[in-house]
Amino acid sequence: MTNLILFGPPGSGKGTQAAGLIDKYQLVHISTGDLFRYEMGNNTPLGLKAKAYMAEGRLVPDEVTIGMLRNKVEAHPEASGFIFDGFPRTIPQAEALDQLLAGMNTGISGLIALEVDEEEIVKRILKRGESSGRPDDNDEAIIRKRIDVYKNETSPVFDFYAASGKSHSIPGVGSVADIFDRLCATIDGL
Ligand code: ADP
Repeated sequence: MTNLILFGPPGSGKGTQAAGLIDKYQLVHISTGDLFRYEMGNNTPLGLKAKAYMAEGRLVPDEVTIGMLRNKVEAHPEASGFIFDGFPRTIPQAEALDQLLAGMNTGISGLIALEVDEEEIVKRILKRGESSGRPDDNDEAIIRKRIDVYKNETSPVFDFYAASGKSHSIPGVGSVADIFDRLCATIDGL
């Protein structure tokens, strides 16, 4: 199996790039943000739990997120691999993911971080907010809060996988096609 973590701050282009990667590598894409938005749109108990955290730019509690992720992975026994997008965002999430994959006799092949600086991210997310309909994309204070959460709670996940030589990073600026080529070169070298 090839199991990739697409990593990087909010607005760094993970979702955009994942769309191309799943076609090329035949992997199942799991975006925890998309899953939460789907649950919210259907007013499920899970969606209602996540709503207030997302609106404030905070992380949904680990036990909620990990349970949802596990269900989604287990729903794809046929998968030849996964692209995790927006997960893991904390060290306990990374530990849970490793445990889940170990139980399937597999593991993370690599983590690839898209590097984009803070002002570019704020610009991109505000632009996305004009059409995304996402309330967390419309308010600069919430966007900056998400970036702080990324720095404080999520960036340690890069070091967690770096300890076993699995973390890589590439520039996340330039054309979508150029970034895609950089990603593929990194994946092909894993
Ligand atoms: P972005 O990468 O632009 O921040 P996402 O769609 O990945 O967008 O996430 C949106 C929100 O969903 C986050 O701010 C957070 O509240 C919640 N969320 C998504 N993934 C996770 C996760 N792994 N753990 C906790 N909360 C999450």
